[in-house]
Amino acid sequence: MEQINSCPVCGTTKFSIYLECTDYTVSQKTFKIDQCDACDFLFTNPRPNKNEIGPYYQSSAYISHTNAKKGLFNKAYQIIRNYAIGQKIKLITGLLKRKSDIKLLDIGCGTGEFLAGCIKKGWNGVGVEPSESARVQGIENYNLSVFDENFLKTTKDRFDVITLWHVLEHVHDLNERLDQIKALLSSEGIVIIAVPNNDSADCNEYGGSWAAWDVPRHLYHFTPKTIKELMVKHGLRHAYSAPMVFDSYYVSLLSTHYKYGKKNYLKAIKSGMLSNQSTKGNPEKYSSVIYCFKHE
Ligand SMILES: [Zn+2]
Repeated sequence: MEQINSCPVCGTTKFSIYLECTDYTVSQKTFKIDQCDACDFLFTNPRPNKNEIGPYYQSSAYISHTNAKKGLFNKAYQIIRNYAIGQKIKLITGLLKRKSDIKLLDIGCGTGEFLAGCIKKGWNGVGVEPSESARVQGIENYNLSVFDENFLKTTKDRFDVITLWHVLEHVHDLNERLDQIKALLSSEGIVIIAVPNNDSADCNEYGGSWAAWDVPRHLYHFTPKTIKELMVKHGLRHAYSAPMVFDSYYVSLLSTHYKYGKKNYLKAIKSGMLSNQSTKGNPEKYSSVIYCFKHE
C-alpha cells in the first residue's frame, strides 16, 4: 500500500478522514478516503500502489454468468452506449474551432468504441490503453491504433482533442499525466475529462454505498471545484461543463445493489431521475460531469 503524504492538488500535508467505504465489486475490503484540510480534495489513502492495483480490476461480476435478465440489461447498455458516443462526438464538435482534419487522442480508450465512432466520423485518432487485452480487442475489432502508456512520453504528435472518459480518477501519476496532456495539446486544442461528481444528489442519497466511490480503483474523487484547481495548476483553464445524464441511472442501479443487497431497477430509475431533476439544469450537479479545458 502507498500512503499519500501531500495533497495531489495543493501540496498541503494536513488531511482529515472523510469516509470509509467498501470495495463492493472485487475485494470487499474497506478503504479510507481523506480530505485535504486546505482545498477539500478527496483521495483514497492509503491506496494500492501501481504494482498492487492489478488484482482490484479483476472482476467477473459485470459480464459473465449470462442469463435473460442480464442479456436484456447488456443489450440496453449497448444501445445507450452507442447513443452516448454520438452525443459525445456532437458535444466535442460544438466545442472545436476547426471542424475538419481533427486529431484525437483518447487516453484510456478501453476496447475502443468511442475512438472507433470518431474515426467513422472522419477524424484521425489514436488511443492509449494500459490493459493489453483491451488494446488487442480495439485493434482487432475496429482496426484502431492503440498503444500502451509509453506513447504519451514518446510521441511527437500534437492533438486537437484529448479525451479521458472516466479515466483520470484511476491514474496513479496524476500530476505527471496532466503535464503530459498539456504538452501534447495543440495550441487551439481541448481536453475533455469526464469524472464522477460527489457533489451530486445520488452521492448524497447513497453515502458510503455510492457506487462511484469505487475504491480502491478510484484514487481521486473530484468535485467541480477541486478538478478546476488541479487543472489551473497545469496551465489549463476551464471552458465548459456538460452533464452525463445516463450515469446517475447506472450509478444508482449499482448503489441500490450495494446498499440493499440486490439490484432494484425501479428504485434505480427513480433515484436516477430524481438526481438529474435535482440539478435544476446545472451540469456541475450531475452524478458525472464532462469538463472541457483549454490552454490558459
Ligand atoms: Zn489540497
